[in-house]
Amino acid sequence: MQITKPHAVLLASPGMGHLIPVLELGKRLVTHQDFHVTVFVVAVDVSGENISKLLDSSSEHLDVLMLPTVDISGIVDPDENFVIKIVVTMHESLSAIRSAICGMKIRPTALIVDLFGTEAMAIADELEMLKYVFIASNAWFLAATIYGPAVDKKVLDDEHINQKKPLKIPGCTPIRFEDTLEAFLDPNDPLYHGYLSVGRVIPTADGILVNTWEDLESKTLRALKDDKLLGCVARTTVYPIGPLARAVEAVAENQVLEWLDMQPTESVIYVSFGSGGTLPSKQMMELAWGLEQSQQRFIWVVRPPLENDVSGSFLTVGNGPVGTVDYLPNGFMNRTHNVGLVVPMWAPQAQILEHPSVGAFLSHCGWNSTLESIVSGVPMIAWPLYAEQKMNATMLTEEIGMSVRSRELPTERIVEREEIEMMVRRVMVMDKERHAMKNKVKELKNSALKASSKGGSSYNSLSQLTKDCENRFQCLKVKAEGG
Ligand code: UDP
Repeated sequence: MQITKPHAVLLASPGMGHLIPVLELGKRLVTHQDFHVTVFVVAVDVSGENISKLLDSSSEHLDVLMLPTVDISGIVDPDENFVIKIVVTMHESLSAIRSAICGMKIRPTALIVDLFGTEAMAIADELEMLKYVFIASNAWFLAATIYGPAVDKKVLDDEHINQKKPLKIPGCTPIRFEDTLEAFLDPNDPLYHGYLSVGRVIPTADGILVNTWEDLESKTLRALKDDKLLGCVARTTVYPIGPLARAVEAVAENQVLEWLDMQPTESVIYVSFGSGGTLPSKQMMELAWGLEQSQQRFIWVVRPPLENDVSGSFLTVGNGPVGTVDYLPNGFMNRTHNVGLVVPMWAPQAQILEHPSVGAFLSHCGWNSTLESIVSGVPMIAWPLYAEQKMNATMLTEEIGMSVRSRELPTERIVEREEIEMMVRRVMVMDKERHAMKNKVKELKNSALKASSKGGSSYNSLSQLTKDCENRFQCLKVKAEGG
């Protein structure tokens, strides 16, 4: 067998928030590292973006392959938590993943899975491929994920969950109870045990790729390398290779972008809760009033609200008809039509954030959205809803200083219009506070660019991954050939 260039199979679990960074990783491996990449897409998406557009990302050395859709309707209830649906879908896709790899003419060098794909690492073992985990989030999240199962159960359950003490992770910023990962919250929930198993399996990979960079998280990355701190838990090489943020591609004739072209510089706040975030209906009302009262221009991507939930959630679109705005206050559209745009379901976010008319981003703090805001130099209102977003919001507001947030978590209490109005003004109206946030995010934007450019820390980390991958693959080959 002749090896020409390393070939990586990247596995993307369902959801735009997973597919987008995996595709970006694929492109980076092809353009910077001379890899051949095949992206396996386990699709199911209700976010509103035409998934086929993303699948057009195929190029000479990047193949995007949609795996056969699996029917999980007989296994999980349609109202089941979205995380369970993803986990089951990934499990049911394992045989298709195996067959697709076995069907390739030359066995690929490595399998790179995301957080939901760790079960597929057994296929890599069986087929004598290298296996890597790609954490499409930050190093602090990775630290929590692998430390949770490593720590004494008494510390996690008794101290952190029951007594609500911060979770102290060696060498890292402790995680306040209210920010903790949802999966840690209920030891009686199957998700708790499933998540702890994932945290245990990640360190068995040949390496862990993280969508962060040295300057952003130097302390946590140091802890992950240091055997006296978290290194003994991580046990494998951690490669900070970010930020992999969605590339800004030209969009043909888009009304939102055309509207933005007509607005003054940094005069518009962009409001979006990611590919699937929804708010309770009362919160939608308060947000509408808050935006209107702030008297700032806005673009708001709306999804029909949830009727009874207080906390907001993912992919649980409420009953309101998509494309209408019955759930907004009476007369809202008329009163704001000169200053605001309400966009149903989906907008070209990366392009919007890059637009010079955008001054701030009200976001659920999904990691992709966060990185897109950073690389566009846009300060944020941090409005976390689920997954690791509360940790992200804390990092952005308290450590980095590029965002403001509500006094109480939006998942605990409805944020009222006056507070929203005040937060919008704080990020939009130029005074000392906004100036400081803007400077912070600009600094990060520059460090992000430097890290990904030739010779930068993330660029070098990806080169190191390539070298390690080639060396280890040679060893595997020799072993397989009985050498
Ligand atoms: N996105 C978009 N348009 C939208 C909503 C989301 O392009 O109207 C993209 C956004 O740019 C980001 C991804 O979808 O790349 C959302 O990922 P994130 O990690 O922020 O949140 P998730 O959807 O996973 O909660």
